[in-house]
Order: sequence, then structure tokens, then C-alpha cells
Amino acid sequence: MQDGYRFLFGPVRSRRLGRSLGIDLVPLKVCTYDCPYCQVGVTTLKTLERRDYVPVADVLAEFDHWLAHDGQADCVTLAGGGEPTLHSRFGEVIDAIGVRSKLRRILLSNGSLFSLPEVRAAAIKAEVVKATLSSWDQASFEQAHHPHSELRFDAFVGGLKALRREFKGEYWLEVFAVPGVNDTPAWMTRIADIARLIAPDRIHLNTATRPAQDGKTLSVPVYKLNELAGLFNPVAEVVGAASPHTQPWTESVAQEDLVGRILSLLQRHPCTVSDISATTGQSVSEVEETLKDLLERGALRLERRDTQNYFVANPPEPLTP
Ligand code: SF4
Repeated sequence: MQDGYRFLFGPVRSRRLGRSLGIDLVPLKVCTYDCPYCQVGVTTLKTLERRDYVPVADVLAEFDHWLAHDGQADCVTLAGGGEPTLHSRFGEVIDAIGVRSKLRRILLSNGSLFSLPEVRAAAIKAEVVKATLSSWDQASFEQAHHPHSELRFDAFVGGLKALRREFKGEYWLEVFAVPGVNDTPAWMTRIADIARLIAPDRIHLNTATRPAQDGKTLSVPVYKLNELAGLFNPVAEVVGAASPHTQPWTESVAQEDLVGRILSLLQRHPCTVSDISATTGQSVSEVEETLKDLLERGALRLERRDTQNYFVANPPEPLTP
């Protein structure tokens, strides 16, 4: 990955997706939610307005450049630092990727806009769609996600069910477990009952593995996730137990690209030195040297969580609605 891409990041390795090139279609933390556990940071613009947040032509020009100069990935993922379905032309981007490559196209969404027929019509162009369900009524929805004030839980679930009827590809549901919010068997059973009605192909039970914005959110322990997973049908796969960056790359990133690659990663996920080393293929000492420079320039900050130090990109200026 060259230093200078604005909309592409990675590829990053994930257990679920393999080697995934990310495409970010909204500026950092433009989202319909402001989840307290969000690992990207505080929402800068909480909105339901769908528009061209970034120029599609520029996104595709970067994708064409990446295809010509690298092009090595298992899939392309619309995801990143906000909610991709807020981009009014995300379906065109999915189409254009399909015209240019044979890469699997994945949409990672919080699902909050699937109640809109035009959003579902665009989403079903992808091979895989993942949506998030972590609550069971309006009160728990608000507690788990701090959604935009006009979002209603019943309409949200209606959208998730409608997508199942219309989408022939792989439909994944992610349940994000948060201590004190939904991590008891009684709460999770209520979520599982709704998930059964949605009938996804796979259910992933996730929890925070990196620092959250409030600094207080803790992970749900793995043994508890394993117990809760059995409440779902199909049984949920526990995916929050390990960092997606634990497997080493076979190739390494050129030194001159390292700064851009690190910043691009940290704007979306806080990482440890070893996460970054594994993702970029650079030695720990090379990564540490680059991080030290970025810290001195004020581009990053260090956050302590449990026994680990995480590097976090400093937040952008808030956007004007
Ligand atoms: S976790 Fe996802 S849905 Fe929640 S605020 Fe962050 S980007 Fe938005």
C-alpha cells in the first residue's frame, strides 16, 4: 500500500475474511450511531443523511491504482471509520469493483439503514453483507449504540428481516457483547430470539479487543462468550477472542510506505506494536522507530489498556452537519 491513499486501507488480515482491502466511503466517524465501545473513536457527525461524502471517481481511481500496483487480496470490504451505507452511491462502488476485479465484495454495516429499500437494493450487490444486532428493544438499542434520535428499533429489525428476503448472498449477523449491557444469558436469549427470525447464514459473537472510546468498556471474557454462543441458532462463532492482526504477512511493506500504512491502520483500529509489525511485515524495532517519530509529531497517542500499550491516531476536527 502506497503512502497517500485517502480511501483505501490495508489489506489487513482477518480470520473471517482473509486478506481484506478496506475502502472507506465516509469521513472518519460519520455514523448513524455513537457506540460507547466503538474502537474508531467518538462519532464526529451522527446523521441519517445519505449523500456523496467522498467522490466515487476518486475512490475508483485509487482502486485502479492499487489493482495496477499491488492487487493482492482475498476480498474488498466496504468498512472503516464510519457507516458505509450513508454514502448514497455505495452500490455503484460495489458494482464498479465487480467490473474491475474478481475479488469478493463484502459490506460491513451496522444495519441501521436497511429499513430503506434503496439501501437494501444497493447492499444486495455484495457477495457478503454483515449487519450488527446487539439489542432487543428500543431501550437496549439506545444503551448499546447511542443511535441517531430518529432511529427506531422495530424499523431497524424490520430492515434486517427484509434484507434476508431480498439477499441471495451470504448474510452474517454480528452480535457485539458489552459488559453490563447485553452479556447475561437472559439478555442474550432475547437477542437470539430476534436473530432466529432474521435467519442469517452465520452469527458472530464479538467483543472489544482494543481500547474503546470511553476507556471503561471491558471485554466479555472468552469463557462467557462461549457459553452465550450456544443460545443462538445457528450456534454463534466467537470471534472477539483474538486480534485480527495476529498472523504475519508473507511480504513486507516498503519503508517509505510504512508511515502511511500505519496511520491508515490506526485511524480505524488502535493497535499494539506487535499488531502493526504482523500487519506490515516490518520488524518490531522498525515499527517502534516509526511510531516514535509519529508520536513526536503529534499524529498519535499512546493508551494503556489492561497490560498492553495501544497506539491510537489522534482524532480529526469535528465535521459541521
Ligand atoms: S462501532 Fe460501528 S456503528 Fe458503532 S459508532 Fe463505531 S463505526 Fe458506528
